[in-house]
Amino acid sequence: MKASLIAPFFATLKAANPHPQTELEFTTPFELLVAVLLSAQATDAGVNKATRKLFPVANTPQAILDLGLEGLEGYIRSIGLYPTKARNLMATCRILVEAHGGAVPRTREALEALPGVGRKTANVVLNVAFGEETMAVDTHIFRVSNRTGLAPGKDPLAVEEALLRRVPREYLGDAHHWLILHGRYVCVARTPRCWECAVAQFCDFKPKTPPPAAR
Ligand code: SF4
Repeated sequence: MKASLIAPFFATLKAANPHPQTELEFTTPFELLVAVLLSAQATDAGVNKATRKLFPVANTPQAILDLGLEGLEGYIRSIGLYPTKARNLMATCRILVEAHGGAVPRTREALEALPGVGRKTANVVLNVAFGEETMAVDTHIFRVSNRTGLAPGKDPLAVEEALLRRVPREYLGDAHHWLILHGRYVCVARTPRCWECAVAQFCDFKPKTPPPAAR
């Protein structure tokens, strides 16, 4: 994608959705951290279903510790990989209580030191909870960035760096939401819905997918 097309690409996504939000439900940085930690290889809807029952009972590190491992597992049993996620979440809560006064730290280093928290999760928390211009590259963003030519890269880190270089400053804060939603609902994995894509004119992908009736 030519550099001159990137601003109109994002302006078009913004016009359709001026204030994009994560689909995970949360009210505090800690709730967001828990939701993102639980969301690996799970749907946001599945995570929301579990956290709607968990958070009213326990939405602080100490309250989760007080549930105990088995108590926590009872709330998240419907989520894939829940035994590992439960162990990681308990260990993370212990560190938050012992080293951070029960608060979610605001630095990448401290976030990535938490069990179960990788670069992507740290980027989501820094961006969504603390408003930093980070770019959490998930499977949707990786695909959309490569397919459109917006920010090609061979692995998520390369795409993240390319996005941070190429996305105009004014769109950086919300870019990751727009790209995730675009990848989830329009530029989908198997057959991108090019025929109804608002940013088709800026996208390098060829040939564009025709409407179903024309195939
Ligand atoms: S035109 Fe097709 S490939 Fe390009 S962004 Fe839109 S849906 Fe994706």
